[in-house]
Amino acid sequence: MAYDKTNIFARILRGELPAFKVYEDEASLAFLDIMPQAKGHTLVVPKAGAEGLLDIPPDALAGAMLTTQKVAAAVKRAVEAPGFMIAQLNGPAAGQTVFHIHFHIIPRWEGADFKLHAREKAPEAELKDIQAKIVAALG
Ligand code: 5GP
Repeated sequence: MAYDKTNIFARILRGELPAFKVYEDEASLAFLDIMPQAKGHTLVVPKAGAEGLLDIPPDALAGAMLTTQKVAAAVKRAVEAPGFMIAQLNGPAAGQTVFHIHFHIIPRWEGADFKLHAREKAPEAELKDIQAKIVAALG
């Protein structure tokens, strides 16, 4: 499938749609998932126009991974999570719903399940509060 520049994350990257942004550098933008699977669920979106792991240029991938590491540390501190997982889905068969590569940072607590993927919007006030905490944790 050819990369579609009208996908929702490309539009957020271009500033055409709003997002609860927490971090930006030359290679990536990080913002909250509006349908979080756990408190603090954050997405790191490389700026390179690529659908998935097999299309992104190696340099852009390397930059995005470093950003994911940095943002994950801040998310973990911000929501006081003992653990977190990183997910990156490739293709509809894997559950990918937005066809611009992104890394999910999903905080985890022992014994606590995470919610279903892309199902339930979180209240705006809750997202704003978490956004502020992650931004503060990034210093
Ligand atoms: P994927 O299924 O492609 O791995 O993940 C897409 C993610 O984007 C889902 O977790 C979904 O909740 C999230 N999402 C869908 N639409 C929007 C949106 O408009 N804004 C934000 N911030 N997240 C979105």
